[in-house]
Amino acid sequence: MTILLLGSGGRECAFAWKMSQSSLCSKLFIAPGNAGTGSYGTNVKLNPNDFEAVKALVLKEGINLVVVGPEEPLVNGIHDFFVNDETLAHIPVIGPKKEGAVLEGSKDFSKQFMDRHGIPTAKSKSFSNANLAEGLAYLQNHAMPVVLKADGLAAGKGVLIIENPIEAQEELKLMLGGKFGNAGSTVVIEEFLTGIELSVFVLSDGENYVILPEAKDYKRIGQGDTGLNTGGMGSVSPVPFADDAFLAKIKDTIIQPTIDGLLKDGIDYTGFIFFGLIKVGDEPYVIEYNCRMGDPETESVIPRIENDLVELFMACADKKLASYQLDISTKNAATVMIVAGGYPGDYEKGKAISGIENMRSSLAFHAGTSLEGGVVKTNGGRVLAVTSIQNTQFEALQAATADAARIYFDGKYFREDIGFDLM
Ligand code: ATP
Repeated sequence: MTILLLGSGGRECAFAWKMSQSSLCSKLFIAPGNAGTGSYGTNVKLNPNDFEAVKALVLKEGINLVVVGPEEPLVNGIHDFFVNDETLAHIPVIGPKKEGAVLEGSKDFSKQFMDRHGIPTAKSKSFSNANLAEGLAYLQNHAMPVVLKADGLAAGKGVLIIENPIEAQEELKLMLGGKFGNAGSTVVIEEFLTGIELSVFVLSDGENYVILPEAKDYKRIGQGDTGLNTGGMGSVSPVPFADDAFLAKIKDTIIQPTIDGLLKDGIDYTGFIFFGLIKVGDEPYVIEYNCRMGDPETESVIPRIENDLVELFMACADKKLASYQLDISTKNAATVMIVAGGYPGDYEKGKAISGIENMRSSLAFHAGTSLEGGVVKTNGGRVLAVTSIQNTQFEALQAATADAARIYFDGKYFREDIGFDLM
C-alpha cells in the first residue's frame, strides 16, 4: 500500500524508519519530512496544515493510509476533513478527529473530562476575562507554587509554575490579556504536584487499545535538568521506576477510565493517546493528554516494538485492536537529542553535519535537518536524535551518549546525563 506520513521531526523519522520495514508498505511519502526521512521514502514539500494540498497529494499518488505525526493538523481537524470529503472518506487516518484531539487542544476541556470520569489529576479551576476578579481572588488564597496554563496550544510555552501569589496574579492578567494570543483566553489554575514524570502511550481504535512501551523524557536544556524547557533533550524506555504494579495501576485508574470516558462521551478516537503522568508517592496522576506520540519519546519507544507498524496501524483503522498481540522487546532504548547552539533561544541553521557514519551502534533519527546539494545541514533547533538499543539501560545510555559525541556540526550541543539519574 501507499502511505502518507505527515510531519518533519525525529518522531516522524522513527515512524518512517519502522514503516519502511513493513512488507505492507510499497511506497511511503513523508510531508514535509527531513533529510533522514528521505532515505526511507519520498519527501514532499507540503504544509500538513494545508488540507487542500494534502488532498491533492493523496489523490495524485493513490494514498491508502495517512499517519499524522504532529498535533496541529489533528487539532485543526484533518481527520474530519477526510471523513467529510467523499473522495477521501474511505482512506484511514491514524490520529483522532477534532472532537478527540481537543483532549490536547484545550486544557480546560481535558481537566473537565478527567473530573467527569474520575481520572486522577491535579485539582484545578479555569478562568477567563469574564471572571478575572474571581481568578485573582482564587490565586490570593492558593497554595504556592501554583501552575498557570494557557488553555490552547502554545508550543510548549503556555505553562508557568509560579512561587508567589502577586506574581501569579500579574501573570494571570497578562495571559488573559493576550500574552499567548487566543490560546490564553482561558487559563487553568492548577495545584502543583511534586513527583517524577513519565509518559505512557496507547493506540486506540475507538473501542479497544494497545499499550505501547512507556518512556521518560528530559525537557530541560541543561545537565542535571536545569535551565529552559525545550521540546525534549532525550528519552529512555523502559522506565526503571515504573514497575509492573505501577503500570497496572496506570492502566486501571487512568488508561481504562480514559477509553471508557471517550466512549461514554461519544468520541470515536482513532489514534495515539499520550498520557503525560507524574508519580506522586506511589500514585499516578495525569499532567496532560496529547493526541499524538511524544518527541523524543517515540525515538525510544518505536524501536522496542517488534510488530510490523503498518499492520498495527491497519488493525487500528479496522477496529481490530481487541485481538492484536503487541510484542515488545525486553531491550532498553536510550535517545540523546543533539541540538543547535543557542536552542531553545535563537539559533542558526544551515550548518553542515558530519560524522553520522562514525556512530558505532546507534540509530540516527533526523529532526531539524535538510539535504542541500548532497550535504546534510541543520534546519531546526533539535537536529538529530541518537538512539541506542542495548541489553541494559546503562549500556544503551553509554552507547547513545558516545555516538552523539561522534557527530559534528558548528555549535552542536547535547546533554551527557540523559537517563543516568535513573541508574
Ligand atoms: P508540552 O508541550 O511539553 O507537552 P504543555 O505545554 O502541553 O507541555 P503540560 O505538559 O501540561 O504543558 O506542562 C508542562 C510541564 O509543566 C510538565 O511536563 C510538568 O513538568 C510541569 N507541570 C504541569 N502541570 C504541573 C503540575 N500540576 N504540577 C507540577 N508540575 C506541572
